[in-house]
Amino acid sequence: MRRLFLLIVIVGTVSLFSVTAAVDPFSLPIGTVIIDAGHGGHDPGATKRWSFHQGEILEKDLNLDIAKRLAVLLKLDHPDLTIVMTREDDRYLSLAERSKIAYSQPLLGKSALFISIHVNSATSEAANGFEILIKFQDKRVTLIDEHTPTANIALFAAHSQASLNRLLNNRNLVVASVFEKTMSQRLVTARSRGIKEQDLWVLNQSRMPSVLVEVGFLTNEADAKRLLSSQYRQTLAEVLCDAIERLL
Ligand SMILES: [Zn+2]
Repeated sequence: MRRLFLLIVIVGTVSLFSVTAAVDPFSLPIGTVIIDAGHGGHDPGATKRWSFHQGEILEKDLNLDIAKRLAVLLKLDHPDLTIVMTREDDRYLSLAERSKIAYSQPLLGKSALFISIHVNSATSEAANGFEILIKFQDKRVTLIDEHTPTANIALFAAHSQASLNRLLNNRNLVVASVFEKTMSQRLVTARSRGIKEQDLWVLNQSRMPSVLVEVGFLTNEADAKRLLSSQYRQTLAEVLCDAIERLL
């Protein structure tokens, strides 16, 4: 009986040790931020004509402008961070190319953050506000395969795939709530539509904490007017930068 008790104590201590020793790879300090400007090239994303603007407004242009402003701010404030943009000009990238750019970054013992920037649209012109999208919790991500950079394997090797997916889901929620909170606090004229789980390829395929930020509706007059102002796009970039800084 005493021997059995001793065995239980030993097994318990060993498993406790292995739990505490395995670091959550998604909660390590952030070393890399991947900024993804949605759409591009022959894919304009949402499009809309408004009487107050000459010509058609293309979502891809707004996404790229905000993404570039965000990259400038992050580089300026945090020269130690690696900033990667999936596109820096008006070019088409498939969703697979976007997520490949993200997961092929060597993380060097740190974590990464993927932020995709989009502008929303709806059939009803009344729909407005910003929202933060994350992948569905039950969408499993394969974290180790032949495409995983060798430098990153050690980060994931201490965990099972199920445990990694659980940790990734937890971190996605933390990241999304920081974005939602920061945007709610600082974008006082815009309405928060909250955090939503969505079945989006670019999020499902991402092997790091990832959010897709819909910054406003091109199909809503007030949102579109704001988004057409370079001053507002700069504010948006500053707010997104602030959210990232709260996560560093
Ligand atoms: Zn979009």
